[in-house]
Amino acid sequence: MVKFSGNDVTGGNFPQLTINGRMRCSYMMFNCEGGESDGNFKSLNVGLHVGDDAQAVLANRDIVKRRVGVSYLLSALQVHGSDIYVQKEPLTGDTEVQNYDALITNQGGVALMTQHADCQAVLLYDSVACVIASVHNGWKGSVQNILGKVVGQMVREFSSEPAHIQAVISPSLGPCCAEFIHHQKELPPEFLQFQVKENYFDFWQISVKQLMDKGLLQENIILSGQCTVCSDEYFSYRKAVRCTGGVTGRNGSVIVLRDI
Ligand SMILES: [Zn+2]
Repeated sequence: MVKFSGNDVTGGNFPQLTINGRMRCSYMMFNCEGGESDGNFKSLNVGLHVGDDAQAVLANRDIVKRRVGVSYLLSALQVHGSDIYVQKEPLTGDTEVQNYDALITNQGGVALMTQHADCQAVLLYDSVACVIASVHNGWKGSVQNILGKVVGQMVREFSSEPAHIQAVISPSLGPCCAEFIHHQKELPPEFLQFQVKENYFDFWQISVKQLMDKGLLQENIILSGQCTVCSDEYFSYRKAVRCTGGVTGRNGSVIVLRDI
């Protein structure tokens, strides 16, 4: 992972070009800096449905588009479910689909944005099948194994080969802060192997395991390893619960196939 100048975005190009050599895949994971929102949303909040001023959010999304170098974003009004939206045509405008938590496309120039504050954005790229995905993966996503479902859909619909898929797991809730005092009710027993101390779980490694169970290779999985609760650079829902009654912005993470 590369930290760009200004330290407000992490990302880079995946090394492999697509199989026809005409496209490369880039990703950018933005933190909370460099935007136009104020107050609890200061400043690069990309979430339209968290109580922020819509004009400021749209201005922030314009900043994201300029930085990524795309005309439009495809995003979702996420609901901590496991439904997957597949975009098979170019975008003709910014599009936010309702009630999905994962986005897949094989279209160049279609930037997939996940909005998150402690949840993981998991970005997937298969350079051979020429397909990408962006997944909103909170603890409820982990319980539903949305990552496994997305990889399965890439295989079924785009003939993706899991061993060809590269993954990046964004800054998100770390094992240092992932306390689940009701884990016996909320989490399945197989997550107990990822309990790092009483009531604390390593959801980063749960995601790595779920991806590897579907056939991804460990060396193809990049883990940011940065905890959004511990860092002041990221919007964090858990931090906001302590400080502002849970009112906070959303970080944007984007992946795109683009012509070279
Ligand atoms: Zn932490």
